[in-house]
Amino acid sequence: MPRAAPVLSIRGLRKSFGAVEVLRGIDLDVAPGELVFVIGPSGSGKSTLLRCCNRLEVPSDGSIHFDGTDILAPGTDINGVRRRIGMVFQNFNLYPHMTAAGNVTLALRQVLKKDRREADAMAAAALARVGLAEKRDAYPNELSGGQQQRVAIARALALEPKAVLFDEPTSALDPELVGSVLAVMRDLREAGMTMVVVSHEMGFARAAADRVVVMDQGVIVEQGPPAAVFGAPQHARTRAFVEQLV
Ligand code: ADP
Ligand code: MG
Repeated sequence: MPRAAPVLSIRGLRKSFGAVEVLRGIDLDVAPGELVFVIGPSGSGKSTLLRCCNRLEVPSDGSIHFDGTDILAPGTDINGVRRRIGMVFQNFNLYPHMTAAGNVTLALRQVLKKDRREADAMAAAALARVGLAEKRDAYPNELSGGQQQRVAIARALALEPKAVLFDEPTSALDPELVGSVLAVMRDLREAGMTMVVVSHEMGFARAAADRVVVMDQGVIVEQGPPAAVFGAPQHARTRAFVEQLV
């Protein structure tokens, strides 16, 4: 059976900041419904890789195709691409003066031009999906970190993205709040969402990742199923990194 075309296809991706090249030739395909888990030491280029995928950073070289669109081509409607790639960051990035529902409807109204009634209904559905139906009128400072992150996930989901990229979504959370966010991510995976997740949550990777990608100094040094990468890492740097996490 032919494999489905990748949702995200990255070839020869390079990115320099001044004289420093932080991505040095990344090739990565992500299949529909696949959960790719990305690990690597701090500074290895994980965030830059995700940020290039919706052109928050402009690559120096290489190509990125997302859902059939060459996102680096000069004529590309980048806002159209950003609508279809959800991004979830470590620090939630919610507007403090807006309620949970307000944060979710904002994008629906501004980006998708939904009217208030439709946006409210879509926001309510998205908040219910992350288990926060009861919190729609709460402000961020009335929510735990885990709840705030779930609002951020709801905001991404409300736009009905083709894929969601997570950059250390649980790193800012107290340990007891991590599980609620990972549970939402696991539900999303069950629902067939295509996901790229940068995280240190190895238990989650073992349980939910289709593939683990190990980055070091701007390149992918190793990749494979979680059991292989964690159980029998091939690369010295992966071994050192994995040992320090468990
Ligand atoms: P990771 O997410 O794996 O920790 P990053 O992608 O954040 O790594 O960073 C990779 C390297 O690029 C680091 O050395 C970082 O200091 C550098 N870097 C990231 N963003 C910028 C920027 N906007 N300007 C200059 N250097 C940057
Ligand atoms: Mg990072």
